[in-house]
Amino acid sequence: MARRWGPYTNMKSVLAQEPFVIDHAEGVYVYDEKGHRYLDAHAGLWLVNVGYGRQEIIEAMHTQAQKLAWFSSFGGIANRPSLDLAEYLVERLSPDGMVAVFFSNDGSEAVETALKLSRQYWKIRGRGTKTKFIGREKSYHGVTLGALSVAGISANRTAFEPLLADVRHTAAPDVFHCPHHPGDSFCTGGCIRELERLIGFENPDTIAAMILEPIQAAGGVIIPPPDYVRQVADLCRRHDILLIADEVVTGFGRLGDWTGSRHYGIRPDMMTFAKGITSGYMPLGATAVTREIWETFRQVPGDGPEFRHGNTYSGHPVACAAALANLAIIEREQLWLQAREIGPYLRKKLQEAENTWPQYLSEAGAEGLLGRIRIQGGTDAVEPGYWGLQVQAEMRRRGVIVRVAGDVVTFSPPLIVTADHIDVIISTLVDSVAAIFAP
Ligand code: PMP
Repeated sequence: MARRWGPYTNMKSVLAQEPFVIDHAEGVYVYDEKGHRYLDAHAGLWLVNVGYGRQEIIEAMHTQAQKLAWFSSFGGIANRPSLDLAEYLVERLSPDGMVAVFFSNDGSEAVETALKLSRQYWKIRGRGTKTKFIGREKSYHGVTLGALSVAGISANRTAFEPLLADVRHTAAPDVFHCPHHPGDSFCTGGCIRELERLIGFENPDTIAAMILEPIQAAGGVIIPPPDYVRQVADLCRRHDILLIADEVVTGFGRLGDWTGSRHYGIRPDMMTFAKGITSGYMPLGATAVTREIWETFRQVPGDGPEFRHGNTYSGHPVACAAALANLAIIEREQLWLQAREIGPYLRKKLQEAENTWPQYLSEAGAEGLLGRIRIQGGTDAVEPGYWGLQVQAEMRRRGVIVRVAGDVVTFSPPLIVTADHIDVIISTLVDSVAAIFAP
């Protein structure tokens, strides 16, 4: 029998179980086909920022699809929603220094676009030796071979090696597991020195760009010490290395600002967006660039060079219409302020949960509405590395959906979440841990 082959899914285990079919959703809740309700503490996959069932987005998509469902954007053709969205984004991202936007379909393609732009940028500027990329350990940047090459979650990479050869990885600071000084919580020095050494060793004349998530999300919500991101940006600037901020998760309000870059006070050379740009109502990716990059491609004498890159669905009109309606909601409801207000409450409640079960919970943390906690010391029946999955399954049985990165449970609720919802999420976590580990 033909079967759906699911993404990041172990098909053997899926075929052994009943599929978990989500049927409909409203606000912060999703409902399965049997009518069970779940509080979605992860905004799907870090992205339904405005919540489910927003009629104005659905109507904007409907109206646009009736008018023009799609037409090519190649070679100078455009559709109105993509022009309007580019203008809107540039205006909102002007404090971040962005002046132009290239549209694609998802986060992987937005990253792929940024990597290719970096290489061509240096070629146009007569510095064609600058080809290498620097990525960070434990990072997630997507599934395409370029994006995967700069990403740093080993388990995602090994089956597909060899990846792009010209990529180097550097450690990212993890206050709970410092790669340089275990036990030392707030040091950025080791990672910055390692990066500086790497740049010197490779020679900055060979390095095109460095990519970084302001907060490593899929790696387990690894929150850097406050000054680290700015120090990386300074290093890149000093060595003429383009900095790509991967804002696929951190963009559009999650950290309490329009972008994670603004939250950490940096102005990167490029930003990649997806997910929250439409809150998932349609697939869309975007790569924003600074004036320097834009002008470099624009000011070459004669015809060229064009950026020989583009997707059939670049600037899809229905996706851009969804994005415009979604961003209008974020702006009107000032949802980034919600992340500033509720985020500290999420952090406090996670800390309280840790204090309730210190033998089973550790490493609580949150920045904006991105949170995490580690499950430890579980039952002998289950191996370390699978305790997270055990807790995730129990929480789902009790009506709350979370994600895990190994034994770290992560939280990324819709930005419309309230303190009452946070109470339910955390009490479900605490009850689930008690039910599994301390029955
Ligand atoms: N970058 C980051 C930071 C991500 O978290 C993700 C997806 N989780 C991607 C890129 C890739 O996005 P997509 O799955 O839409 O290709």
